[in-house]
Amino acid sequence: LLDDSTLFLDFDGTLVEIADTPGGVVVDARVRDILAGLSIRLGGRLALVSGRPAADIARLAGAEGIAIAGSHGLEIRWPTGETATPQRSASLDIALDKVRRFAAPHPGLLVEDKPFGVALHYRAAPASHAACQSLALSLAEETGLLLQPGKMVFELKMSGGDKGAAVRAFMASPLMSRGAPVFVGDDATDESAFNAVADLGGAGVLVGEQRETAALYRLPDVAHVLDWLQQACEPVS
Ligand SMILES: [Mg+2]
Repeated sequence: LLDDSTLFLDFDGTLVEIADTPGGVVVDARVRDILAGLSIRLGGRLALVSGRPAADIARLAGAEGIAIAGSHGLEIRWPTGETATPQRSASLDIALDKVRRFAAPHPGLLVEDKPFGVALHYRAAPASHAACQSLALSLAEETGLLLQPGKMVFELKMSGGDKGAAVRAFMASPLMSRGAPVFVGDDATDESAFNAVADLGGAGVLVGEQRETAALYRLPDVAHVLDWLQQACEPVS
């Protein structure tokens, strides 16, 4: 399947289990080995596409020579290391200040200051879902930032890119484009990418439970993704 493709992989919930906090994620050597093997097998037509900052993904994945779209597609890092980043909006500082003040008296809420977003994680305080959502909605209205809901997180992010746009940008380059694109991801933020690969003649692979999705295929969990990718790295006998 993958030999003639460009492969796009989400990170959290796809290659690694989602951790209690973004900093708590564990990336074992097997994941790095699989990524290195895939990069060789695909002749460099491999990109990691995440809501995390690109630098964070590069550090976690040890992704030498692998393309990265970070911050939900706002940052594009080519396999050469050349990186395109937008200018940070002042609205983020306003949002960050208000989210921090909201979270301070709520135990379990975690505020993440990202280069192009502000994330409010409530994984350790699930009862705060509704309060976090209403704060995020009102801040989106006030600041003009986009509300990006994820798994146990609300993020306010700058407009101007999403994972689908990142896929299209990579596929527009001869460096990355050959055959059909395949995107593997688990979260609501991956749907724009599932739509993009479908438009480009490829297919999305949803990780997790069946749900309403633009993906054509599904794998049940991270373990199945890693087994599938490992097989794809092995030479044809
Ligand atoms: Mg994910």
